[in-house]
Amino acid sequence: QHLSPHLASTATDFPRTHDKIEKVEDTPFFIDNQFVTSSTKEFIDLHDPATNNLVTRVPQNTDEELKAAVASAQKAFETWRTTSVLHRQQIMFKFVALIRENWDRLAASITLEQGKTFADAKGDVLRGLQVAEAACAAPELLKGEVLEVAKDMETRTYREPLGVVAAICPFNFPAMIPLWCIPIATVTGNTLILKPSERDPGAAMILAELAKKAGFPDGVINVVHGAHRAVNFILDEPAIKAVSFVGGNKAGEYIFSRGSANGKRVQANLGAKNHAAVLPDCNKNQFINAVVGAAFGAAGQRCMALSTLVMVGETKEWLPEIAERAKALSVNGGFEEGADLGPVISPHSKARIESLIASAEEEGAKILLDGRGFKPEKYPNGNWIAPTIITDVTPTMKCYTEEIFGPVLVCLNVETLDDAIDLINKNEYGNGVAIFTRSGPTAETFRRRIEAGQVGINVPIPVPLPMFSFTGNKKSIAGGGASTFYGRPGVNFYTQTKTVTAFWAGADAISTKADVHMPTHS
Ligand code: NAD
Repeated sequence: QHLSPHLASTATDFPRTHDKIEKVEDTPFFIDNQFVTSSTKEFIDLHDPATNNLVTRVPQNTDEELKAAVASAQKAFETWRTTSVLHRQQIMFKFVALIRENWDRLAASITLEQGKTFADAKGDVLRGLQVAEAACAAPELLKGEVLEVAKDMETRTYREPLGVVAAICPFNFPAMIPLWCIPIATVTGNTLILKPSERDPGAAMILAELAKKAGFPDGVINVVHGAHRAVNFILDEPAIKAVSFVGGNKAGEYIFSRGSANGKRVQANLGAKNHAAVLPDCNKNQFINAVVGAAFGAAGQRCMALSTLVMVGETKEWLPEIAERAKALSVNGGFEEGADLGPVISPHSKARIESLIASAEEEGAKILLDGRGFKPEKYPNGNWIAPTIITDVTPTMKCYTEEIFGPVLVCLNVETLDDAIDLINKNEYGNGVAIFTRSGPTAETFRRRIEAGQVGINVPIPVPLPMFSFTGNKKSIAGGGASTFYGRPGVNFYTQTKTVTAFWAGADAISTKADVHMPTHS
């Protein structure tokens, strides 16, 4: 079955327009390397966030379809696990090349379904592609260790795949997050059930098509759809050995507990409230550009969005300049030339963000820049909020304690670096943080004392490249951060270590008395 050009097509391009789709088609699911129409009666309507026009209907797969996806992945595992790692690497090389060839098409699907600008959507694809590129090093990453531990005796380790694994993804990075999972899970020999966000599965469907073209055998990657019921199925299905989750705290904490209680490995990256401490000695121009880009880019819907500014000392006087630069950003349909940020994901999300802005006003904060009520001329029906800056915020206000996940920057004032560190460390979340300063010792003190997974020094969104790992802290990562995505920890998550100790008796092994004590080595 061919897919509509608005989902995933064999056409080389994807329509770059927010125009109404005349013939809306349902999103299929992907099983045994085939796109299949679900027999369900339950669908989730997916609207273009810039227009609220219907784009597709996303099925909620039936239990029979979910079971069939697991059976397909189980069957595929039998042969995939024994496929040589060099063969898997060759497929990954092809997958990488195909993602690069289809980069624009993937990005256009993201702009249509998720709303972010086309340029930003290209970044979404790239950051996932880089994980696939790093996964090409599988033969190196999967090497075990060996040591001669005693005379005629050695211990060695092997990394073995777990079996069928699952990934549950959020809406905000429709290509990057599936690509945090697909390459590493599969190149290590597992088979995967991917559940993209029901709000924008298009990019995942294109990735499935590319995976098939790259040569992944039937059933190695299956894509299913749905929301809570599909997630519960994944959590309770004994054949699924591990679950990767990225999303908000409500779903993530539940998924971590239920999945772990069922004996699965679970890695779960959760919500955030990323702070930047700005010092008077920083490069002011670089700082203002950095914070405006990181607070409002992707309409603030990044887990690493820089949403909270801690202004040390006189830096609070720079607020009008920050507001001026934020005001100059173009808020528009993501396909429009020069658009800096698009709409937020849904009318519900817009209403939630607006109510958080209103709560700040009620609690005594000031709205320095108010993006409520903004509408680009061409797209009056989208979920628009222009950049908004809230000042004079205190740590007990709701706009500070809750993750806003919109184009809203909240600003607090403190007197010293110590005050900034104390404030940031008291926050429940600990995903990313940044400091802006020209002083090495100041940056170093901050780096040492701050409780956050990822620290940027004059870098507003310090997401590590895939040769490192995505390292959260506190409430931003479940299980105390024991398991993180991609890099070597990603390979660890998707593999089981087997340790083998072997003894080959030499010619001098002639004693006839059995030794009953725990061996002690000298
Ligand atoms: P979400 O938690 O609403 O949804 C994520 C996934 O969980 C979806 O596939 C959804 O179907 C499922 N889900 C949602 N509610 C559920 C429930 N009650 N029970 C079972 N399954 C459920 O998240 P979202 O709104 O799609 O994404 C935004 C959130 O993701 C933000 O909080 C953001 O900070 C976070 N995020 C974190 C990272 C990170 O690495 N820390 C990266 C990206 C996004």
